[in-house]
Amino acid sequence: MTDGQTTRRDFLRRTVLAGCAALPFQPALAQGSAGRVVVIGGGFAGATCARALKRLDPRLAVTLVEQSATFTACPFSNAVVAGLRDLRDQEFVYDKFAGSGVELARQTATRVDPRARAVNLADGTRLVYDRLVVAPGIDIRWDALPGYSEAAAEKMPHAWKAGAQTLLLRWQLEAMEDGGLVVISAPANPYRCPPRPYERASLIAHYLKTKKPRSKLIILDAKDAFSKQKLFQNAWQALYPGLIEWVSLSSGGKVTMVDPAALTLATDFQTYKPAVANLIPTQKAGHIVELAGVADRSGWCPINPVTFESTLQANIHVIGDAAITGAMPKSAFAANAQAKVCAAALAVLLTGGAPATPKLINTCYSLVAPDYGISVAGVYQPANGQLVEIAGAGGTSPLDAPQSVRATEASIADGWFRTLTAEVFG
Ligand SMILES: Cc1cc2nc3c(=O)[nH]c(=O)nc-3n(C[C@H](O)[C@H](O)[C@H](O)COP(=O)(O)OP(=O)(O)OC[C@H]3O[C@@H](n4cnc5c(N)ncnc54)[C@H](O)[C@@H]3O)c2cc1C
Repeated sequence: MTDGQTTRRDFLRRTVLAGCAALPFQPALAQGSAGRVVVIGGGFAGATCARALKRLDPRLAVTLVEQSATFTACPFSNAVVAGLRDLRDQEFVYDKFAGSGVELARQTATRVDPRARAVNLADGTRLVYDRLVVAPGIDIRWDALPGYSEAAAEKMPHAWKAGAQTLLLRWQLEAMEDGGLVVISAPANPYRCPPRPYERASLIAHYLKTKKPRSKLIILDAKDAFSKQKLFQNAWQALYPGLIEWVSLSSGGKVTMVDPAALTLATDFQTYKPAVANLIPTQKAGHIVELAGVADRSGWCPINPVTFESTLQANIHVIGDAAITGAMPKSAFAANAQAKVCAAALAVLLTGGAPATPKLINTCYSLVAPDYGISVAGVYQPANGQLVEIAGAGGTSPLDAPQSVRATEASIADGWFRTLTAEVFG
């Protein structure tokens, strides 16, 4: 992400999300149909892609496979942690998909056979595809940190998948006595949504300042720098002086071991015993990518940045958090943009054409307080098999903006979330 100052809004207004050049007509794959597409994962990437495909070519047979009846969104879940929002405001259902022409399979995808171009579901159904889109989001690497496990997450919640973990962290904060220590452990890159550990620290600090003012928050970081760093740190100084301490990697911030029974986190230099420990662990793409053979040794999925087709398996496309997207961060905004580009590419590929080279935008808004928003935006294009950031096209909120600008950005963030979720699930 870029840290340049912004004149970006004018630029972004003029920037086209994804361009598709005029293409020579070629016959559809299956006679009398435009093709069968199966999408695994009904989150920001998968649900957007399924709908966009149907809009682009209503003749396509599109099936969305989603394991949960209710989607619980991560954006704004840090506000739930801080007691500023209800978890129900994060929940979305798939009722409206019936009218979209997308067939919904409320099942877990359990197997992918790339040779037979088929997906198996938990109930025994087998779905055959011409093209498959895989969008399962993230899984936690439970084996990455000594002492951390699924059981440990019940004591030291990650809250990096929204839902029960989000509420657990909130309840722990509510139960903590005034004067308690909160520790957030932030992972090394790459992980889901780079600014969020610092947004979470900010909103927890807001909670502590207003409800438990003698308390303290330490961020133990496995990095030496983070997204929107100056904006966050300036705001912390202004809003929460002395409350938040950031311990960088080179200052000994990397957590190397945890003991959930004793509620301790150890670094190479020190052992911390907080009242509340939020351990944000190392992550990888959702498990189904391993079964589909589209993940590399990193646990994430290499893709062609023009079509989002896997470089490891033909006819399988990977979008959203699961994909390796170069400079483009893992976010709901990015997942939504990638989904539209992928859908446009698929519609062209299924008629034998060649997709045009896209440009994609990401904007990440973060709340430092309920009425204090900051943002970073970037524009990306394919180069050398990756998505690279177009220099000078993005930027961050100005460092010296007055409170009125911060308040406006906070309300733009809210509007963005409403618009996105209405588009995807409404
Ligand atoms: C605390 C927090 C705050 C955030 N705030 C923001 C923000 O403000 N702005 C922003 O842009 N991003 C934000 N993000 C990031 C954002 O949530 C993710 O980048 C986004 O959800 C990725 O979308 P996705 O579709 O790839 O994955 P997901 O949204 O996780 O969707 C994946 C879906 O796939 C389904 N699935 C997985 N495996 C299977 C299977 N085998 N069969 C069937 N279904 C399956 C899952 O049930 C899920 O519904 C935040 C993240 C966190 C943790």
